[in-house]
Amino acid sequence: MKWKIIYLTLTIIFGCSKSKVMNQKSSKIVIAHRGASGYLPEHTLEAKSMAHAMNVDFIEQDLVLSKDDIPIVIHDIYLDDVTNVSEIFPDKMRNDDRFYVIDFTFKELKTLQVSERFDPKTGKQIYPNRFPKEKGSFRLHSLQEEIELIQGLNKSTNKNIGIYPEIKAPEFHQKEGKKLTEIVLKILSDYGYKTKKDNCILQCFDAKELERIRKELHSELFLVQLIEFPEETNQLDYFATFADGIGPWYKQILDKKLDKKWMFTSLVSDAHKLGLQVHPYTFRADQLNEFISFEEMLETLLIEANVDGAFTDFPDLMVSFLNKKQ
Ligand code: CA
Repeated sequence: MKWKIIYLTLTIIFGCSKSKVMNQKSSKIVIAHRGASGYLPEHTLEAKSMAHAMNVDFIEQDLVLSKDDIPIVIHDIYLDDVTNVSEIFPDKMRNDDRFYVIDFTFKELKTLQVSERFDPKTGKQIYPNRFPKEKGSFRLHSLQEEIELIQGLNKSTNKNIGIYPEIKAPEFHQKEGKKLTEIVLKILSDYGYKTKKDNCILQCFDAKELERIRKELHSELFLVQLIEFPEETNQLDYFATFADGIGPWYKQILDKKLDKKWMFTSLVSDAHKLGLQVHPYTFRADQLNEFISFEEMLETLLIEANVDGAFTDFPDLMVSFLNKKQ
């Protein structure tokens, strides 16, 4: 009898603690894609502060190494579509006419002016109605600087907003003799992000690298496998051997529209059967494609397709949509 009570008590304790952990990632999460990038230049500390004030659940960091091994928060391995690098360091252009983050020290990168994204060939702004190109005063920053901003804001506002870092182009970094993943994991650990409870989700497009992060580097973080190509959606069984979730392109969830009603592929239900969460990218109010309104996009993908969260450039709109649903 006594043992039965102890057993039941333990079941309740462990049952509860498990569901608490699961719950942290089970209600639909809003991920600020490159910060509040619909309103301020992507991946600037200003865009991250704005996202934090919008009460998102996670703020995203794309990571590329500098020449002196500092993880820089920037979307691509290139600099020329979001900075004035071609004016400041014209001699550092490679033969392919591009400027690479990895060719610059952190100190050099800090001298660059960051701008709203543009096409380096034409100089044209990609999203014409967003923050004006080359206006304002924005700089590149490191992963450490961003974590300190988010953790500092969490303390001063009494919130617990998470980080959602992405290991960018691991094969490229390896070819350049760089250990991006190891450096990032060490920084995350130093700042307290070690396990699935620590409000950090680590993402990567490269499945071999994400598998290595779990199986060889023994990371206990919540891992999300990003999916770029449709054929990769057939590899969910493999992803489930190391990942906790997938990040597909949202179009891989949509099938077709019949009588004003969207039909879906089996991707979300297949992933859920394997215990994988689904966080599609990227919800943009100024790039609706097949949707009539942003409201329709949110209703279709978040509610009807039943994904677990999403990357959005307009986090305030997704937060208010979800608040109205609760
Ligand atoms: Ca990303």
